[in-house]
Amino acid sequence: MSRVRPNACLERPSASAGRGLLARETFHDQVLARSAGRCVMCASKAVDAHHILERKLFPDGGFYLDNGAAVCETHHWDCETTRLSVAEIRRACGITRIVLPPGFTAAHDYDKWGNRLRADGLREPGPLFEDTGCRRALAAGGVLGLFVPKGTP
Ligand SMILES: [Zn+2]
Repeated sequence: MSRVRPNACLERPSASAGRGLLARETFHDQVLARSAGRCVMCASKAVDAHHILERKLFPDGGFYLDNGAAVCETHHWDCETTRLSVAEIRRACGITRIVLPPGFTAAHDYDKWGNRLRADGLREPGPLFEDTGCRRALAAGGVLGLFVPKGTP
């Protein structure tokens, strides 16, 4: 039995696809539809629409198609713990236009939680570094030891 989705036919891709802020449910549906309901990393059934950059970094919630990745449970955890980089996830999704929260710059790379990735492999704390979810994910990813204070040469 298939669920009726009255809006599905109306959501045509356009030149601006991926750029507009979406409602939460539309975000979920479009992210999963983009990869035909499959995890972008392993092609098993996707169960979540992952925010490539954490939604708490966005004042508007970050529900942009280009900030979403369809993932299975295992790969969702790899995304949350930053074992998978945002660059790898975007590549797997075929995303070429990067969505960034205000105050972030394309000149730098960031992890999922908005912490800055340095060229030397270390990381500098971002605005969510003290956030409980962020700390738990980074601890699970085994990367807390990589952090140096902001501005460390
Ligand atoms: Zn997967």
